[in-house]
Amino acid sequence: MEPQSRSDVSVPEGAWHSKPVGEILQAFEVSEAGLTSEAARQRLAEHGPNQLPQEAPEGLLRRFVRQFNDVLIYVLMAAAVITAFLGEWIDTGVILAVVLINAVIGFVQEGKAEAALESIRKMLSLNALVARDGRRVTVEADQIVPGDVVYLESGDRVPADVRIIEARNLRVEEAALTGESLPVEKQTDPVAPTAELGDRSCMAYSGTVVTSGRLTGVVTATGRHTEIGRIGEMVARVEKLTTPLLRAVNRFGKLLSAVILGVALVVFFFGLGLRGFSVVEMFLIVVSLAVAAIPEGLPAIMTITLALGVQRMAQRNAIIRRLPAVETLGSVTVICSDKTGTLTRNEMTVTEVVLPDGNVAVSGTGYDPEGDFEQDGQPVDPAAQRNLHTLILAGVLCNDAEVRQDPEKGYIVDGDPTEGAMVALGMKAGLDRDQLQRERRRVDVIPFESDHRFMATLHDNPEGGRLIYLKGAPEAVLPLCERQGLEGDAGSLDTAFWEERTDVLAEKGYRVLAVACKETDHDTISFEDVQDGMSLMGCVGMIDPPRPEAIQAIEECRQAGIRVKMITGDHAVTARSIGARMGIGDGEKALTGRQLEEMDDEQLRQAVLDHDVFARSSPEHKLRLVEALQSHGEVVSMTGDGVNDAPALKRADVGVAMGIKGSEASKEAAAMVLADDNFATIKHAVEEGRTIYDNLKKTILFILPTNGAEALIVLATVLFAFNQLPITPVQILWVNMITAVTLALALAFEPSEPGIMRRPPRDPNEPIVSGYLLWRIGFVSVLVACFAIGLFFYELDNGVSLLSARTMAVNVLVAGQLFYLFNSRFIMQSSLSLKGLLSNRAALMAVGLLTLFQLMFTYLPPFQLWFGTEAIRPVDWLLILGAGVAVFFIVELEKAVVRRWRKAR
Ligand code: ATP
Repeated sequence: MEPQSRSDVSVPEGAWHSKPVGEILQAFEVSEAGLTSEAARQRLAEHGPNQLPQEAPEGLLRRFVRQFNDVLIYVLMAAAVITAFLGEWIDTGVILAVVLINAVIGFVQEGKAEAALESIRKMLSLNALVARDGRRVTVEADQIVPGDVVYLESGDRVPADVRIIEARNLRVEEAALTGESLPVEKQTDPVAPTAELGDRSCMAYSGTVVTSGRLTGVVTATGRHTEIGRIGEMVARVEKLTTPLLRAVNRFGKLLSAVILGVALVVFFFGLGLRGFSVVEMFLIVVSLAVAAIPEGLPAIMTITLALGVQRMAQRNAIIRRLPAVETLGSVTVICSDKTGTLTRNEMTVTEVVLPDGNVAVSGTGYDPEGDFEQDGQPVDPAAQRNLHTLILAGVLCNDAEVRQDPEKGYIVDGDPTEGAMVALGMKAGLDRDQLQRERRRVDVIPFESDHRFMATLHDNPEGGRLIYLKGAPEAVLPLCERQGLEGDAGSLDTAFWEERTDVLAEKGYRVLAVACKETDHDTISFEDVQDGMSLMGCVGMIDPPRPEAIQAIEECRQAGIRVKMITGDHAVTARSIGARMGIGDGEKALTGRQLEEMDDEQLRQAVLDHDVFARSSPEHKLRLVEALQSHGEVVSMTGDGVNDAPALKRADVGVAMGIKGSEASKEAAAMVLADDNFATIKHAVEEGRTIYDNLKKTILFILPTNGAEALIVLATVLFAFNQLPITPVQILWVNMITAVTLALALAFEPSEPGIMRRPPRDPNEPIVSGYLLWRIGFVSVLVACFAIGLFFYELDNGVSLLSARTMAVNVLVAGQLFYLFNSRFIMQSSLSLKGLLSNRAALMAVGLLTLFQLMFTYLPPFQLWFGTEAIRPVDWLLILGAGVAVFFIVELEKAVVRRWRKAR
């Protein structure tokens, strides 16, 4: 496939994969130092942002029309037509108005919910590291232009089509483009002009993922001019605003509608044949029944509850990528967390250096370059101590991090904190890194990977030849070393001594790095080059303080019946020590990656129950751990940041990726992303997940009795052959509409119940409406219906008009719901407290609004005309209030009895 001609852009055309690097740079008028910001700005204006065409969002009109696609709306439309035939023009008008208003409400709510999610999606926009004005800067991926020099490393998603000009152990997974899921090797040499897409090994294409190594490349095409843009690929379809629970509720709603229509038919003939109602009367009754019983507002309100909850989570730094995770979070039983950065602050500070002839203590905090060196209480000058000096120098050169001063945050690291700690150590020792880097130019590098646990760099030696500097985990470095100390006073390696010393550091919870060097004359560096002959300079111990909020969150998780497990690449002793300090594990046991590898699945199943600390573990181990835990029926949340963590994140019930240090690949595999990389955020998300689930449950618990009571009133009319309907269809429509936009919505804002993190996780198989909740729904329906019917007849007996008695019935119904809202704020706990009554502002506002609506409904002439109402006597309001208060207290009494009864069992 040859790139097509690009008539609308003025970038040079060509089969970039067949051109040598020099030609590419020339064609795009760029050097390896990148574009200037000015050139980038111009090219952006010329070529447009680097975006794929988005799938057109559903048109507003279409979304509006969709609101009418509902069983209830069909019933209402039929009712409108028939009332029109009967000449009941006012009813026709009201019904049509309600249909329209309903659609508008649904439309607006859906829009709000979508907007809430959209803003969350935006928080996850892709960034890329590019060279601009000779410096590496992070820009949003849509700002990338042809000719930009980009830097990518393992875990990154390739943001545009890129001609690779430098590659290191590079593998790219191109499934998005070619369908081939195995990563392919990439390099910098041009290939034949006729090479197929999959064979263009010097190109990295937009949408593919770097699975290992790193690359520098020149962007050759952006946006829809990329290969993926040209095959018409759309941005991944936005997720539907739904979850398994919501789908279940929707299905239930549909089923219920069908059942209700069936019942209505039976009632129709029953009323006609056995109760002597006329066809017109029965028709009105049946329409009333359908309107009354179908909980049409429920799905929309549940959707908005969910969306608001997801938004609240985002405000607390937990960004949901897959909505079903919201429900799953509430039933999580085990959280497996990385240590570094998630449980700890990832602010590494070197505090001890172990040399062959003793320990040197280093003072200072964070990355602040202020600190002193001391040996046995005596100050040490690192410049004078050759061994110490070389160790620090090696640590600074075998390093990709930068420490810089931020006006607000003080000294901070760009890059890996472990490396930042070495840079800060160098600053404390007074090394001039820039000068060192000039004198000892870096020629080649083996980047750090969790698999081999070391990093090595090759430098020019000012004294001739080359030097290898290497740093890494002691178990990885010691086997490579033959000697210790510097040339001249070097001795043979005393492995036992180093193991003992590193254990002492690890006991204190320190991360330990060993540093080694070697002279060589090679021009490149490979794994063979470091396999032997290295000389160990010493080890450094760095602290990484636990996050205090994580310690508290772990304790709260424990109370909430959630076990926290720590999975770390660090040494077992370090891991155990940190774990004990944070409340994970017993401080005794830690399972290492090697031990884990020796176990078969059955042994591992047992081991995951016995251990909470997993050390020296690699991403592959995480997958096995998730599976072992799930085999016990645990609901597992797993964190991860690297590209290799993706399978475990996908497999976990709730995969959690790190927003700051996580790779793009891990974020894509995760259901949730932590904007602050903090463990405490997972706890907040669990809490919020439990709250959302509660609120969904409360919504159902609150809404269904309205429908129940209305349906019972209508059924009673037929069954007992009342002369008159206590409430008319249009009045039922009014009640449903008005309570849905006020009261029911208030529950979406309901805060967490107290003690929400002191109950055990929810059983994922438990139905949302348990037998007990069904009882509550039925009980309240009957209660409210009795009050409404009772007071309707009481009024008639007192000689008031039919219209006035109906107005009374409607007001009783609404008052019952209004007070019942406060019962529903707590499913089992008592609402009889100031907090229970006042703590949800949305509920209070809803009450105020609803009262206003009811006054209008009762007294304003147009409303009286539309809804067939009439003013009621002032004393009637006392009765209405009394009925509402009675409902509240009776339900509270019921809760209290059930609470006591449950306790007694
Ligand atoms: P956690 O799993 O707790 O998040 P981690 O994933 O950061 O920890 P790794 O990065 O795999 O753990 O680090 C494992 C070991 O490798 C460390 O204990 C340290 O000895 C060594 N190490 C870490 N970073 C570097 C680095 N940049 N250069 C050399 N060695 C390193």
